[in-house]
Amino acid sequence: MATQPSDPDHVTERCGACGGETTHDVRVEIRTESQKEENAEFSREPYRITTCNECGAENATRMNNA
Ligand SMILES: [Zn+2]
Repeated sequence: MATQPSDPDHVTERCGACGGETTHDVRVEIRTESQKEENAEFSREPYRITTCNECGAENATRMNNA
């Protein structure tokens, strides 16, 4: 339980919902995009989910945009 100077699970970003530079909780979520079983293993995309600590708005950004 080392205390880290900067918490990697929290970032300060601009929130589109409340319009301020706010602290966000960050997590990564695997979301399945396709219902087709044959493609299931290729369709699970990691999303970076940020939750604004001010207004609670969630924003999901797909991580592999390439
Ligand atoms: Zn906000």
